[in-house]
Amino acid sequence: MIPYGRQSVSEDDVAAVVEVLRSDFLTQGPAVPRFENSVKQWCGASHAVAMSSATAALHIACAAMTVGPGDLVWTSAVSFVASANCARYCGAEVDFVDVESDTGNMCMDHLEEKLADCRANGGLMPKAVIPVHLTGRSCDMHKLAGLADQYGFSVVEDASHAIGGNYRDHPVGSCTYSDVAVFSFHPVKVVTSAEGGMAVTNNPDLAASMRRLRSHGITREPNDMVSPSHGPWYYEQIELGWNYRMTDLQAALGTSQMNRLAEFVDARHRIAQRYGKLLPELPVHLPPPEREGRSALHLYPIRVDGRRGSAERRVVFEHLRARGIGVQVHYIPIHLQPYYKELGFRSGQFPQAEAYYADVISLPIYPDLTDADQDEVVAVLATAVSG
Ligand SMILES: *Cc1c(COP(=O)(O)O)cnc(C)c1O
Repeated sequence: MIPYGRQSVSEDDVAAVVEVLRSDFLTQGPAVPRFENSVKQWCGASHAVAMSSATAALHIACAAMTVGPGDLVWTSAVSFVASANCARYCGAEVDFVDVESDTGNMCMDHLEEKLADCRANGGLMPKAVIPVHLTGRSCDMHKLAGLADQYGFSVVEDASHAIGGNYRDHPVGSCTYSDVAVFSFHPVKVVTSAEGGMAVTNNPDLAASMRRLRSHGITREPNDMVSPSHGPWYYEQIELGWNYRMTDLQAALGTSQMNRLAEFVDARHRIAQRYGKLLPELPVHLPPPEREGRSALHLYPIRVDGRRGSAERRVVFEHLRARGIGVQVHYIPIHLQPYYKELGFRSGQFPQAEAYYADVISLPIYPDLTDADQDEVVAVLATAVSG
């Protein structure tokens, strides 16, 4: 089986994890701050807080912004469910913004219109907006930051796909246009720590709050304490947090992987360029060209719309899967999930998201994918689209 994505683990990665296993700390040791520094330096952000997953990091980012009951959070209709669930964990309401038809990224024109309508109708305005850099391609953050200023909402980037990418002259995660950005280190993503996530920010208060919330809401900072210290053992729980810590094993793997981030993204671009040469023969649509920066290319989505002499998406998908090509669909729009339908969402509400979902397929792309693997993907796809 050739999967749509998979990790690339080197002997250096293995050695880095083994070294932690033989050390004094399996968790809460020196490896986590080391990983945080390496991501922070890559992005040029001032603070980084590692967590057990991107889902945990999105939850903590919302909590640190005091998102709670009575608040509203907007995210993209085309994403993994975690982009919306993070606000639900905080007791907030969620609404969605429709996407650009070609990239699947949050459509800033739709967002602008929705904000204006909401204000004109006296509706509840969003406290935070969570754009998702789908497939590793940054959203139009400049436009989003302008709207955030105008309407007074916070911006949390779900950059789970996008570490190693750029927006204009900034690495994704610089937080030049946002309050917080969140990365995922799940094995299918660009860099892995097995499970893991990280929030980066330039706001010291948000960073301190996220650090506290990651570990039960406990502080050891005398300045944050309510009472005088009882002694050197003393700590205070000053709010309700979680145990969302990353282990040192995970962090050591992540730090070692960061040494190859540039190489990983280059390899993904090489594969994408090769698809760009091989696929135009076939009746499928390729991803749109890059506009305002370099994608991290977590995914390589093609569109198979059953026109131009191609078979239907489902037929093509099943054909590929049956022949060992582990394609996937990213994503079923979140508002179509039964949990969200139960909250009142319905099909037809975000037509561009539904149209994107109708014909998208993610082809295999990962650093260790060989030319021979890729030729096989293209050959099987060629027979698949012809029915
Ligand atoms: C993978 C992913 C997440 C969740 O990441 P975990 O680290 O698995 O929690 C959130 N959002 C998007 C867009 C993702 O692709």
